[in-house]
Amino acid sequence: MRYLWPEYVYTSQGWQSDVLVALAEDGRIAGLQPRVVAGRPFVLPAGAVLERLPGKALLPGFVNVHSHVFQRALRGQAQRPVSGRDTFWSWRQAMYAEAQRLDPERLRVLARVTYREMLAAGYTTVGEFHYVHHRPDGRPYSPPTLMAEALLQAAREAGIRLVLLLAAYMRNDFGQPALEEQRRFCDPSLAAYLERVEALRALGVAIGLAPHSVRAVPEDWLRAIAAYSRQHRLPLHIHADEQPAEIESCLAACGCRPIELLARCEVLGPQTTVVHATHADGNELALLADSRTTVCLCPTTEGDLGDGIPPYRELRAQGIALAIGSDSNTRLDPFEELRWAEYTARLRYGQRRVLVTEPDASPGPYLLTCGCEHGAAALGVEGGRLEAGRLADLVAVDLEHPMLQGWTPDSLLDSLFFGASAEVVAAVWVAGRQVYTR
Ligand SMILES: [Zn+2]
Repeated sequence: MRYLWPEYVYTSQGWQSDVLVALAEDGRIAGLQPRVVAGRPFVLPAGAVLERLPGKALLPGFVNVHSHVFQRALRGQAQRPVSGRDTFWSWRQAMYAEAQRLDPERLRVLARVTYREMLAAGYTTVGEFHYVHHRPDGRPYSPPTLMAEALLQAAREAGIRLVLLLAAYMRNDFGQPALEEQRRFCDPSLAAYLERVEALRALGVAIGLAPHSVRAVPEDWLRAIAAYSRQHRLPLHIHADEQPAEIESCLAACGCRPIELLARCEVLGPQTTVVHATHADGNELALLADSRTTVCLCPTTEGDLGDGIPPYRELRAQGIALAIGSDSNTRLDPFEELRWAEYTARLRYGQRRVLVTEPDASPGPYLLTCGCEHGAAALGVEGGRLEAGRLADLVAVDLEHPMLQGWTPDSLLDSLFFGASAEVVAAVWVAGRQVYTR
């Protein structure tokens, strides 16, 4: 057994001092142990190790629910003009060109560097929404899971926890075959996709199902993948309502909006996460709420791509669980990602504290819940909180960092989210093993 002794620990009762966090051999939190018991210092069991963390506060590790790791290569590069009026769709051309350059080794090296950057920012788990499966001409690698295995290897080398969200992709749009540059994303049949899912599950890989979008996957695939997700209790993630053009083509092809189509195909539910929902209307939000579907917001990417500002107030009013993702990895900083959620909501509604529904609360605790607990639930990972039995995925922040000067226990989370960046992260543990130190 090992014990961490930070200055503060964030628990379900808020910040606590004089608490030791006991780490079990199995990578989980064994318990939170008061340092003083009945007026006497707690005596460590024989052989136990105590690690003091003076001037540090311990938080649960952040969960990055939605990443396309290879898009990290576009950082900076994709700000150059592609057309006279650049949008999500012209950015997508640059992204497709980058996807064409990948091979398993290039992907592994890029992913390893990016996953290390995530860890240093305080993300301990990543949901990798992986869709570049095959050779550029669409022929499978041997084995067909080679690109996925490159990502898994990169995560092991970096030390991050990874849930592989294996994307299903079949076409360019409703009634349109795949473009040449989409061929390496596509499977010829649902059976070929599910074979890869089964092969990875047989290796013990933590996996989720990820039909890419209603554009890219037909209705019969959506129904079958959703049924598989329920049968095997696996998370299901899907993009929806990021761009108005997707909603228009869905309305034209199916007579309903994308999230309505997901409801019709029985895709929504407590194991499902809809990514973006930027332009969801009232009926779509009610469908998400009624089915207890999670929504993953990606504020820095949504800002970078000009997607729009999600309907934060309505999402909160409906009680929909919100999580975050770094998506295109244009920035990796959970504090910034969550700050952007609240700040863009303020810009949309002309009001402060939009994400907080309790009249006397500040946003910090709720932002932490989105960044940790909701994210862990969305990926089917037993983390997200510092309590006995949960995974020992932890982040220590440096309370002496100048960005946090003036903090008090009451304001510390708000100081972190509104006044600091990932530079305050001093150390990170995954499964009880320290994987990063500044
Ligand atoms: Zn995405």
